[in-house]
Amino acid sequence: AALQELLLSRITDVPDYPKPGVMFKDITPLLSDPAAFGALTDAFAELCERHRADKVVGLEARGFILAAPVAVRAGIGFVPVRKAGKLPGATLGQAYELEYGTAEIEIHADALAPGDRVLVIDDVLATGGTADASVQLIRRAGAEVAGLAVLLELGFLAGRQRLQPGLQGAPLEAL
Ligand code: IMP
Repeated sequence: AALQELLLSRITDVPDYPKPGVMFKDITPLLSDPAAFGALTDAFAELCERHRADKVVGLEARGFILAAPVAVRAGIGFVPVRKAGKLPGATLGQAYELEYGTAEIEIHADALAPGDRVLVIDDVLATGGTADASVQLIRRAGAEVAGLAVLLELGFLAGRQRLQPGLQGAPLEAL
């Protein structure tokens, strides 16, 4: 509860961003507070241990910022999932639905090996579309999803419900 209070106190609401009517959750105050960022990193690293992860996947772009120090803290490798067209090597891609149109994310085809257990990290779970696509992509890359961990879950968007079938029993942790 103390951790939750600390984290929530460092996330601010920005009205009408990126468009009118949307309340954006801004995590940049948390990133600039070393006590809060450190506590968050420790909490994510504990999840790596609890779920026996041996790789951390970060989702572009704020997921990179959160996941990279976790990988170092946990002593395991970091693997980026990026928007299409950004990774230099051979990739696997996964398309998914947005509110208007579609998007695609990619991972290096050789980044994960069979038997790898992956913890996926992102900042905010909204509708769950991005997280759902990343879980499918990681399985197609040959690895097992040990869990999905986010800093903040926007409960009113029901992302957890949307994700449930695709998670196939893997835990969803919202700090
Ligand atoms: P979803 O696919 O609808 O769950 O959207 C999640 C993605 O959008 C994540 O990668 C988030 O970084 C980003 N996102 C959605 N809403 C917010 C927000 O309020 N603050 C920060 N990121 C957000």
